[in-house]
Amino acid sequence: MTTGKINVSVENIFPLIKKFLYSDHEIFLRELVSNATDATLKLKHLTSIGEANVEYGNPVIEVKIDKEGKKIHVIDQGLGMTAEEVEKYINQVAFSGAEEFLEKYKESAKDSGIIGHFGLGFYSAFMVAEKVEIITKSYKDEPAVRWMCDGSPEFTLEPAEKTDRGTEIILHVAEDSLEFLDESKILSLLNKYNKFMPVPIKFGTKKHTLPKAEDAPEDAKAEEVETDNIINNPNPAWTKQPAELNDDDYKNFYRELYPMQFEEPLFNIHLNVDYPFNLTGILYFPKLGADLQIQKDKIQLYQNQVFVTDNVEGIVPEFLTMLKGVIDSPDIPLNVSRSYLQADGNVKKISNYITRKVSDKLKSLFTENREDFEQKWNDIKVVLEYGMLSEPKFYEKAGAFTLYPTVDGKYFTLEELKENLKEKHTDKDGKLVLLYAGNKDAQHSYIAAAAEKGYEVLLLDSPIISHLIQKLESDNSDITFVRVDSDHIDNLIKKEDTAISKLSDEEKETLKTIVEGVVPQPAYTVQLEPLDSHAAPFLITQPEFMRRMKEMSQTGGGMFGMGNMPEMY
Ligand code: ADP
Ligand code: MG
Repeated sequence: MTTGKINVSVENIFPLIKKFLYSDHEIFLRELVSNATDATLKLKHLTSIGEANVEYGNPVIEVKIDKEGKKIHVIDQGLGMTAEEVEKYINQVAFSGAEEFLEKYKESAKDSGIIGHFGLGFYSAFMVAEKVEIITKSYKDEPAVRWMCDGSPEFTLEPAEKTDRGTEIILHVAEDSLEFLDESKILSLLNKYNKFMPVPIKFGTKKHTLPKAEDAPEDAKAEEVETDNIINNPNPAWTKQPAELNDDDYKNFYRELYPMQFEEPLFNIHLNVDYPFNLTGILYFPKLGADLQIQKDKIQLYQNQVFVTDNVEGIVPEFLTMLKGVIDSPDIPLNVSRSYLQADGNVKKISNYITRKVSDKLKSLFTENREDFEQKWNDIKVVLEYGMLSEPKFYEKAGAFTLYPTVDGKYFTLEELKENLKEKHTDKDGKLVLLYAGNKDAQHSYIAAAAEKGYEVLLLDSPIISHLIQKLESDNSDITFVRVDSDHIDNLIKKEDTAISKLSDEEKETLKTIVEGVVPQPAYTVQLEPLDSHAAPFLITQPEFMRRMKEMSQTGGGMFGMGNMPEMY
């Protein structure tokens, strides 16, 4: 047996680790399973390049709880460690064996999926354990060793019994962390962090009933078998090439990601880039129903198939945080603050790449099957409109596929509107007047009046539409949006209004006084000349300007509670 001192300059680093290293104690399991995965992937790599002459087999990582003994075991069949390696990798805090491995096998190992790199993960075990044991046997022909440390800088290292290759980490759970001996707790952690890790992870067993054999007698008992309970899918859809996957695969993966979500996604976007940064993933456009605000199933961020967070703020452009799905990138520096993250060049590139992929996908959906795209419009418009307002790069591209529906169910792009409506909708200043309704029911008599005259009326009913209108008008000096019940409609309609009033001048005066008496001024104006025979004897209109000011002050706080709208006025 040898004893020695762990090589750190601080006299007692463990209290520090316990308090400050990670804010979340639960990540200890993620770190230990990551190390077990790394050990397995390293062995896989070494056998594949002929450097390790052992059978790789079908290694499994096992997580076990020993309630009575108050222990958690994490067991792998990876490459193991010799006594010398334990001294080197474990006793040197903040020395990463993962990084060293990647450095040594540079080219050949760059796609090996090795996870670790700070050399601190292992010590997170002390956040929940008062004593940690490592029993390990290297794939090299050397005796097994046992390392033990009780949270002081003293450790012991001695020969051990283990005969099979690999490493077993045993956590002697501390009194203040006994919750981690609960099976459902561990299972929920495994589901959260390890659900898509690349090596199978066993947690307990499960029972199946085998289907009865064809020729089995009626009263034969169904046979029960017990098999390993593998909690993860080592080959999730996003790690595959888009060409290998069909529509059903994408839908199935969506269900795998969000087992409680029954609504199918509208479409997906497969992300796959390895230069100048590495990023894979699948994003889904969900059907945005009335529950716009509820964002329980968020985009999940992974690094090498290890779940990191579902807070993708700063990484995914804000307007796309409404999407669902997975992003996996080892190139996102997550050990830094969020504000630094936003300034990081790589992160900015990633965010731009995602924006571009989303706009490309929307454009191809639009050109390949316009009818289908039109049907989805109602479900995606809010995200797109918000994107146009908040992301200049998206705005540039979105003109090609942004649609403006009419009240009677036709869909036009802005260019099409300009082209198709220019004859009839040009006002006396030469501007194209785009009439729109915000609410079909409330404005139906105005809509009918405009339709009677042969005008197209758009149906623009998103909560942020007034901001978008403002932006479109300031970028297109040749158009003006006019709500169908506003006084501006006069510019268009008055000049051909030929309806003859059925009221005498005296009657008009009386009526006007009565109506004005009950309609708030100056928010509304009362107009007695009926626009056509179907309309009511008088018309109440709202000055366009007053209405817009009011609307924008109501929606000015940003949508989805996601911060502020860009300054536009
Ligand atoms: P990192 O994973 O960032 O390199 P860790 O602190 O998590 O740092 O682990 C330190 C090192 O200890 C690893 O790089 C590896 O060399 C070694 N190690 C930890 N766990 C195992 C294991 N289960 N099997 C083999 N080696 C391991
Ligand atoms: Mg690690």
